[in-house]
Amino acid sequence: MSGQVGIIHVHSNYSHDGRDSLARLRELSLERDIAFVALSDHAEDFDAGIFAAFTAECARLSDARLRLIPGLEYRFAGFKGMHLLAFGLREWIAPETPADFARLAPAAAALTAVAHPVLPRYRIPPEVLDVVDAIEIWNAGYNTRYLPDPRAIRLLQRLRRRRPEVVGFAGLDQHDASNDRELRLLLDLDEPDPLAAIRAGRFRSRGRTMGMDATVSWSAARLGALRVARLFYDRVERTQDKVARWVRRPR
Ligand SMILES: [Zn+2]
Ligand SMILES: [Zn+2]
Repeated sequence: MSGQVGIIHVHSNYSHDGRDSLARLRELSLERDIAFVALSDHAEDFDAGIFAAFTAECARLSDARLRLIPGLEYRFAGFKGMHLLAFGLREWIAPETPADFARLAPAAAALTAVAHPVLPRYRIPPEVLDVVDAIEIWNAGYNTRYLPDPRAIRLLQRLRRRRPEVVGFAGLDQHDASNDRELRLLLDLDEPDPLAAIRAGRFRSRGRTMGMDATVSWSAARLGALRVARLFYDRVERTQDKVARWVRRPR
């Protein structure tokens, strides 16, 4: 591997539903040849004091081999499924609406993004689309672990017609590092600031089945083929989940 491998949209146990301490994330990431971890813990589990402790712990556990980059994932009352990501967050912010986020996050974070657009049914407030740096076009949590989301890619493509600087990335949405769904971001070795490189589009996303560059400027035919492939993979995934539940069921 000649480049620098990273993971993005990662939860630690600073999130109520995250299992891994930052120290364990460091240990497992080093085993997996990961050079940076862009964290996005649930903002509702934080206040200014906890955020300061989180940032300090990230710094203490970072070195030349591995960087833990503090970030938060925000949700908003009255906006179901609308989660916004602020990676490389330099100060505590507490936006209460997506419009607040659009106003506060660009100055406070190194990279902002719309998470899993499938959850808010692809309806993103325009003030967010006016400022956000990235769209999560593949989310290993909600959006199957196997294939990216063609509708999220379409959202990215539409947005890029107006704002060609916006990029698309594959996020792990990892809450438990023992279950590695293998989505990775690949950067050149000589990128000193991973989030700046991502924001500038100098990376590739890679998953188990495919990879893509930051623009994901695929043709309509290719997106159509992806939709067909998803019908199959989604069924496989549902079957696997069903089998897993059946195996775990007490008898
Ligand atoms: Zn989320
Ligand atoms: Zn998340």
